[in-house]
Amino acid sequence: MKTGLVFDKRFALHQMGEDHLESPLRIIALNELLQTRLKSGFTIIEPRLATKEEITLIHLPDYVDFLEQTKGLDSYLSFDPDTIAGPHTYEIACLAAGAGLVAADLILSKELDNAFALIRPPGHHAESHRPMGFCFFNNIAITAEYLRRQKSVKKILIVDWDLHHGNGTQKAFYSTPEVLYISVHQSPLFPGTGLASEAGEKEGAGFNLNLPLSPGKTDKDYLYLFQRIIEPVAGSFQPDFVLVSAGFDVMKYDPLGKMELSAKGCGDISQVLVEIARSWASNRLIVFLEGGYNLKELQNGVAEVCFRLNGTKCQELPEPLCPPGLSEEIKPVLKIFHRYWSEAALG
Ligand SMILES: [Zn+2]
Repeated sequence: MKTGLVFDKRFALHQMGEDHLESPLRIIALNELLQTRLKSGFTIIEPRLATKEEITLIHLPDYVDFLEQTKGLDSYLSFDPDTIAGPHTYEIACLAAGAGLVAADLILSKELDNAFALIRPPGHHAESHRPMGFCFFNNIAITAEYLRRQKSVKKILIVDWDLHHGNGTQKAFYSTPEVLYISVHQSPLFPGTGLASEAGEKEGAGFNLNLPLSPGKTDKDYLYLFQRIIEPVAGSFQPDFVLVSAGFDVMKYDPLGKMELSAKGCGDISQVLVEIARSWASNRLIVFLEGGYNLKELQNGVAEVCFRLNGTKCQELPEPLCPPGLSEEIKPVLKIFHRYWSEAALG
């Protein structure tokens, strides 16, 4: 498979203060990975700045203009204690938003099969009118809207496996049946949204599926949910393009979470998504980097996902068996899913 990695060292220019977890060191760690384990087998792609027109596919012009005014500041502006704009934030957020657009164009023109946007700042918490939770522009939502409005792609599946619920992405597509948003996340946790009962509204009812999970879930739990719930629902939806919010804060030693995924576990669930893209979307898939704050784990997890994207490490996945404990926990969630998607496993 021809896999593109969208990357730019300039992603390290955005800073939110010295001890912030969402730090430029994440980009330095990824750059090291690109020079070593990911040195061959991938096409390195340069991002471009998303235009204001593209960013306002999702965000309100007033908010974009307001953030633009922080350009070149000689101090920092805190939107909340976690989300702080500095002199480079606006430009680098535009570059992160543009990464998905470059990848989308190269996939549509068949120069690439799939891609991983190795970007920061992350995006899935950003809402139309405000930044939130380390995020300024909602990178994945902007790409989804670009594909729909400017490239006539009809049906888009977004799978979000960051530790946290992607409130911004959910809001952006809450009433449309053309984007199916599925989030698997630790709950209760920031940002407090993502209950199973939040299932979409109006025409979009049933096209927003949340799988909130208690802490301590392992590779086996996640793989089961991806194979037995996400894959059959995706098969019924038949997406034309698959977008993924990948958060490596689900990994075992992450400082923000209590999930216990290994790098292999991140790879296995990504392989399920690659298979969904192959079955329904002519392989068209873009992964967006969201969280992940243990730098070693981030490197290991990203490398494993990359090898599943280009197919060099794809392996036969085990028969899905529901791990003890999980089936009881997800019963009420599945009850809601079954109103709309009868093919999700019964646990
Ligand atoms: Zn996260």
